[in-house]
Amino acid sequence: MKGSGATLKRMYRPAIKHCRECGAHVSYRLPDDGDTKNRAICTQCHTVHYENPLNVVGTVPYWGERGEQVLLCKRNIEPRLGKWTLPAGFMELGESTEHGAWRETQEEAGAEIEIDGLFTLLNVVRVGQVHFFYRARLTSDRFSPGYETQEARLFTEDQIPWDDLAFKTVRETLERYFDDLRSGKFGFHVSDIG
Ligand SMILES: [Zn+2]
Repeated sequence: MKGSGATLKRMYRPAIKHCRECGAHVSYRLPDDGDTKNRAICTQCHTVHYENPLNVVGTVPYWGERGEQVLLCKRNIEPRLGKWTLPAGFMELGESTEHGAWRETQEEAGAEIEIDGLFTLLNVVRVGQVHFFYRARLTSDRFSPGYETQEARLFTEDQIPWDDLAFKTVRETLERYFDDLRSGKFGFHVSDIG
C-alpha cells in the first residue's frame, strides 16, 4: 500500500490511454469476437484490455464486552483528508479478502485484531468497486497508526462523527453494526450503494 496507490484514493479510474503490452494508443471499440461492450483495444498490436471491478477490503474493529466501541481512523491522505473511516483499502494480488482486511487494519491503524465473520458486502457500481467489511475483535486498545492515518481511536455509537465519515460504505457498515449490536445478533448484509 505504501506508495502503491492501493487505498481508497483511486475513486474513479481514468480510461485506459496506452497499451500495456506495447505502449501504443488504444481506442475504445467493440472487439471482433462478438463481445457486446466497448473495450480498450491497442491500435498497433490489437491487444484487448479488459477492465473489471476492484475489491476493497476492510474491518469493523470492535472493543468492549459487547463490542460497543469501534475503531475509526482519521484520514491523512486524499481523498477525504481529515474524514473518518474504517480501516480498508484495495485488495492486493496474492492475498485473500480476509488477509487483505487484516493487512489494511495493521497498516492504517496498527491495531491487533482477530477476524470474525464477513459482515457487509457493498456494491458500488458507479465507481466499479465491491467493498467487503469483516467484524474483527480487537485484542488490544493500543494503536499505532501508519502514515495514512492522523489518528485512530475508539467510538461508541453516540460518539461516531456521522457527519464526518469518509465513505458511504463506511456509514452503511456502521449503521448495520450498531443495529445488529442492539438486536443482539450479527448478520451478513448485502447492499447496493448509489
Ligand atoms: Zn499494443
